[in-house]
Amino acid sequence: MEVVDMIVENGGQALDDCYQCGTCSSVCPWGDFRDFRLRNLIRLAQFGIEGYECEDLWNCTTCGMCLERCPRGVKTIDIVRSIRNIMGEAGTLPPLLQSALSGLAGNGNPWAGDPDKRTAWASEVGLRTHTEESEILLYTCCTHAYDPRNIKAQRTLARLLEKAGVKWAAWATRKSVAAIPRTRVAAPTCTSRCATRTPNRFAASRPRRSW
Ligand code: SF4
Ligand code: SF4
Repeated sequence: MEVVDMIVENGGQALDDCYQCGTCSSVCPWGDFRDFRLRNLIRLAQFGIEGYECEDLWNCTTCGMCLERCPRGVKTIDIVRSIRNIMGEAGTLPPLLQSALSGLAGNGNPWAGDPDKRTAWASEVGLRTHTEESEILLYTCCTHAYDPRNIKAQRTLARLLEKAGVKWAAWATRKSVAAIPRTRVAAPTCTSRCATRTPNRFAASRPRRSW
């Protein structure tokens, strides 16, 4: 299958609408810092020339600035997502992202941390489980649970709340509560599972406030 067809099939139908004015690259916040030009990547993709599926593409945060300003109404973010999907299917994701997605698929979190140790961060402060009395439900994401520096920050926050007499709580669960937004990566299945579960669980917990 031709590159253009693959991109269209993966959701980048607008590829042919681009007439290479360069507005997208001029408004992109990355323009001042990195050699990342969406216009160039779209051109390579239009011609099916190698290079459109480069690591630079992962710099795009899908902020939408280019989408707003494109005079042709090209759905730029759809093109970015489409190429990312193609890269995901071809197994050519950046190593760091690949490792995060493998962790997510295998252990349910991008750090590949042991689910049984998800609440270990609270061992020194004592985990408060959520009840109707809780004033604040702490949003303990995978990074708080497994990254050593963030574990310290989460413990400090819990201690501060404790000292302030605030009734805080956190979920005592093995399951992850967040995910890399699925629209930004190429692993719809595992990330969409988490992305759906998290807001549902928040809604079900009915916290007075959540942090
Ligand atoms: S602004 Fe739109 S038409 Fe212009 S180069 Fe970018 S995508 Fe193409
Ligand atoms: S959506 Fe991506 S390419 Fe477009 S302006 Fe934002 S970062 Fe740049």
